[in-house]
Amino acid sequence: MDRTFPTADGVRLVRDLARVIQENAQHLSDIDGLIGDGDHGVNMSKGFTLAGEQLTDGQDLASALQVLGNVLLNEIGGAMGPLYGSFFRAMARAARGQEAVDAAVCSAMLHAGLDKVRDIGGAEVGDKTLLDALAPAVAAFDHALDGGESFGSALQAMKAAAEQGRDSTRDLVAKKGRASRLGERSRGVLDPGAISCSLLLCTMADSIGAALD
Ligand code: ADP
Ligand code: MG
Repeated sequence: MDRTFPTADGVRLVRDLARVIQENAQHLSDIDGLIGDGDHGVNMSKGFTLAGEQLTDGQDLASALQVLGNVLLNEIGGAMGPLYGSFFRAMARAARGQEAVDAAVCSAMLHAGLDKVRDIGGAEVGDKTLLDALAPAVAAFDHALDGGESFGSALQAMKAAAEQGRDSTRDLVAKKGRASRLGERSRGVLDPGAISCSLLLCTMADSIGAALD
């Protein structure tokens, strides 16, 4: 029997996401200050905190992700609001109606989010954006499952790939967003969006992994 993540208490996962963003807000803004305008952590933390305040105990995964996505989309400026807002709303849609998330549903949620970020941002892997963490993470999750690995170990593979993808951005030149204005000078620094994305994916993996039935 495949293990599953019960969605009934999905609000916990979203609260975990809010916490990791709050804890890393300063770091994310500091990195954004090197190749952007220094607001990434502040923006993200504002949005995730606001969403946290709108969550209610016992909310299921789809509705908690929907709250998060709506708040980010409607209340947060910069590149991140629309990108992460649409990401979480797409994940919410893919989770809706499910009592439990198995590995296949999890994959569908990840792909729904990834497709949205691609559509909206128009970035490709290698452009030094959050996609450099997200796309390989989703691919690694699928690859592990295709290779017969368990849901839990596919989540671990996703984490490792997200971190590796984040680190890959150090040597890249930004092709999208504010940092692209720096051209060659954007090389040598991690992309702040790839860092936040890796934090979110790793936290998601840990939260789901810890609650598998
Ligand atoms: P802003 O650039 O408006 O100040 P943030 O600082 O909050 O927004 O976010 C910057 C991050 O947004 C970048 O590090 C990058 O990962 C991500 N980003 C920017 N443009 C795009 C895009 N077109 N597609 C995907 N991600 C992008
Ligand atoms: Mg910024």
